[in-house]
Amino acid sequence: MAKKTIQDLDLKGKRAVFRVDFNVPLRGDEITDKTRILGALPTIRYVVEQGGTAILLSHLGRPKGEVNAKYSLAPVAKVLADELGQPVFFVPESRGPAAEKAVSELSPGSVALMENVRFHVGEEKNDLDLAQDFSKLGDVFINDAFGTAHRAHASTVGIAQFLKPAVAGLLIQRELEYLGDKTENAESPFVVILGGAKVSDKITVIDRLLDKADTILIGGAMAYTFALALGKTVGDSLSEPAFIDTAKAALKKAKEKGVKFLLPVDNVTVDSLDFDNMSVGNIGVSDVEGNIRDGWEGVDIGPQTVALYAGELANAKTILMNGPMGIFEIEACSKGSFAIAEAVAKNKEAISIIGGGDSVKAVNQAGFGGDVSFISTGGGASLEFLEGKALPGVEALDEK
Ligand code: AMP
Repeated sequence: MAKKTIQDLDLKGKRAVFRVDFNVPLRGDEITDKTRILGALPTIRYVVEQGGTAILLSHLGRPKGEVNAKYSLAPVAKVLADELGQPVFFVPESRGPAAEKAVSELSPGSVALMENVRFHVGEEKNDLDLAQDFSKLGDVFINDAFGTAHRAHASTVGIAQFLKPAVAGLLIQRELEYLGDKTENAESPFVVILGGAKVSDKITVIDRLLDKADTILIGGAMAYTFALALGKTVGDSLSEPAFIDTAKAALKKAKEKGVKFLLPVDNVTVDSLDFDNMSVGNIGVSDVEGNIRDGWEGVDIGPQTVALYAGELANAKTILMNGPMGIFEIEACSKGSFAIAEAVAKNKEAISIIGGGDSVKAVNQAGFGGDVSFISTGGGASLEFLEGKALPGVEALDEK
C-alpha cells in the first residue's frame, strides 16, 4: 500500500486519534447490526497492545450539525466495551477544553469514544477549525473509517492536515486489499453478482467490472431495465426507461468483451406490496419468456434463475457480490437473495467478497456472514471504490 499504515508507527505512549465508522443501525437504544463495530476491533486491539491510547471519533446517523440524543454514541460505547473486553470511556463531546482534558487523563492502553462528530455543523463541511480541534485530542491520526472514506469531512480529511503522522488502520488496509487487489488481479473464473434498485446507481460499476469479470449475474430491480432493453414487458416493476440505452450499451460491451452477462430467466411477481407493513398480495411468476404482466411487479429472482446463477457461482474462483436480488427486507421476496447468499457461502474454493450495503444485510440475515471471505463495511464507499474513484479519506493520509 502506497500510504503509511499503522504498522509504520511506534505507538508506545502515544494518544491515537482514531476515526472509526460506528454508523450502526439502531432500533431505539439497541444496535441491530454490529458489523462495523466488529470491523474496528483489530485496529483498536493493535493500538492497545502496542501501548497506545485509542481516542475514537465517529459519526452516527444524520444529526445535521445539532446535538440530538437520538444519535448519541453512548449505546455504542457499551457494546464496544463488551466486544473488546475492556472499559470504554465515553466522552460526551468531541472538541474543546473539556474533551481535551478528559483524554489527557487516560492512561496508556485505554480506549475512549468521543460523542458524535456530526453534532458539529463543521464536520460535513470539512471545517478546518473543527479539524484542528479534533487534532488536539492526540499525537497521531489513524483513519480506519472505510464506510466514510468517500467523504471529505473534518474528522476524515481535514484532521490529516494538522495531525501527523496520518496513517491507515488495519480495516482500511483489508478493504482496499479485497475490493482493490483481489478484484483487480482476480483469479478466474471471476463471477460478479450485481443487484439492487437502480441501473443508474450501478452503471459505472458494471462498466468497470465488464473489463475484469468473466461472468456477470444481474438481479434486483436493475434487471427490469435490462429486460426493457431486450424488448420484454415488466408490468409495474421498478425500472428506469430513461436508462434503456445505457443497459443496451452494457449488453453490447459484454458481447464484445466475451463476458457472460446473465439476466433473470424467471421472476417472482406480486399484485400488491405494502413496504411499511412488510406484506404482499397475491404471488405469481413471470411467463416462460420472463415477461411480467401489467398490474404485477417483479420482486425477486425466480427458482430457475437461482439454479442458473448458483451453477455459475459453484465454479467461480473469485466472487464479488453487490446488491440484493430482490426486496429481501420482505420475507416473501427474500428467497432469491438468501439462496444466492447460500450459493456464495457454499463455494469454499473461491475468494468471496460481499461489496457492502444491502448485500451485507442480506448475507448476514441469511446466516452466511461467517462463511464468506470478506464483508465490506462500506456502502457508498465500496461502490465508489469499485467504480475506480479515489477515496478522499485514504488520499489524505501520509505517503509511505
Ligand atoms: P441498492 O442500494 O441499489 O443495492 O438497492 C437495495 C434495495 O433494492 C433494497 O432496499 C431492495 O429492497 C431494493 N430492491 C431489490 N430488488 C427490488 C425489486 N425487484 N423491486 C424494488 N426494489 C428492489
